[in-house]
Amino acid sequence: RSAVEITTEALKRIEVVDPKVKSFLCITADHALKVAKQVDQKIAAKEEIGLLAGIPIGIKDNMCTTGIPTTCASRILENFVPPYESTVTQKLKDAGAVMVGKTNLDEFAMGSSTENSGYQITANPWDLSRVPGGSSGGSAAAVAASECVVALGSDTGGSIRQPASLCGIVGLKPTYGLVSRFGLVAYASSLDQIGPLSRSVEDAAILLGAIAGYDNKDSTSLNVPIPDYTQFLKKSLKGLKIGIIEETFGEGLDSIVEKTVNEAIAQLKSLGAKVQKISCPRFRYGLPAYYIIAPSEASANLARYDAVKYGIRENADSLIDMYTKTRAKGFGTEVKRRIMLGTYALSAGYYDAYYLKAQKVRTLIKQDFDAAFEKVDVLVCPTTPTTAFKAGEKTSDPLSMYLSDLMTIPVNLAGLPGMSIPCGFDQEGLPIGLQLIGNVLEEGKLFQVGYAYE
Ligand code: GLN
Repeated sequence: RSAVEITTEALKRIEVVDPKVKSFLCITADHALKVAKQVDQKIAAKEEIGLLAGIPIGIKDNMCTTGIPTTCASRILENFVPPYESTVTQKLKDAGAVMVGKTNLDEFAMGSSTENSGYQITANPWDLSRVPGGSSGGSAAAVAASECVVALGSDTGGSIRQPASLCGIVGLKPTYGLVSRFGLVAYASSLDQIGPLSRSVEDAAILLGAIAGYDNKDSTSLNVPIPDYTQFLKKSLKGLKIGIIEETFGEGLDSIVEKTVNEAIAQLKSLGAKVQKISCPRFRYGLPAYYIIAPSEASANLARYDAVKYGIRENADSLIDMYTKTRAKGFGTEVKRRIMLGTYALSAGYYDAYYLKAQKVRTLIKQDFDAAFEKVDVLVCPTTPTTAFKAGEKTSDPLSMYLSDLMTIPVNLAGLPGMSIPCGFDQEGLPIGLQLIGNVLEEGKLFQVGYAYE
């Protein structure tokens, strides 16, 4: 089929499904058909086409796209149309991918259910009364509901892996620095990474290959060679050492999640992997450290929404009033909570007690991982303690919402790659995810294990 035919099908599917799932904040039909036509013309002229030519893709709405609104699901950016393109979306364009729309998220990527969006609530395609996870819930739901083939999300504390797990798809957070953050609207800069969401491990490997690589526009970009990730797919697991993170089992973990994850681990064993238990004693301090570090960075990053440079503006008699009125109106409750928490943690007299201490905890967590990777190649654990919860169930209790990311956050704090793959269903038919964690730049091993399991 031609790229135009494939794109038209995806757009039709979106038209039918999206009124129920609500994955997209903006559907870019004209743009998509234009790009698809260009791909078809190239094919007709026997010109070289990119690896992703004609593939319909969804982009989380916190990545800047020239001439196409980029809202971060915040009212404060309601009218923002970026004059520049993020590096990842430029790379996808160059590879011939067809962006069909911008996907919903928790405002500024702060949340675990996509309910913090300033515009709409996305549903979990497996059960419309449940959340798709977050913050990349729009991207995860769009892929799970076949509204696009693959999508990009961003992951600061679990925002790719947790929604992938809750929607029964594959989601990968790469090593910090592997994928450029240029044009990704910053939430917590030392943790944010962009990565793929897909229905198969192979698609994730292909998509990562397309977006990874050094970028001089991102000062934390790693200058390392990018392997062909598909070469890892067919490698056997014979002799590969896998460690089960002991501390992730026990209290708070749903028994069906525990059972299903254990069965998946048994299968890895039967595929030839050598499995052992590994202790990461400081893993559990990840969550509290994260909720100091991420809001602190967010409070600084979000200072730029001052009604002057971009975004909405509330008129007022003084500059200070304009700031306050605009920010009071434009930001949602969770974003305000994080700005206040972060500002508090960074203020004089509290910095040492909170921020500095959290950074020390971060180092200890990294040391646990370093010790683990001296013994094993890949670590495994559940991605989330429970399957998808009901919409509205946790909105009034931020702490219980924060707990969804208990097992994903330490990976961001240590800058490591982590991937969630589907490994079964609970009694109600809701998907369960298995998290694979690799050492720095060892995405290949995650693909190896994921593909063999799949
Ligand atoms: N749920 C976490 C938070 O609210 C992680 C979000 C993310 O990874 N962007 O901060």
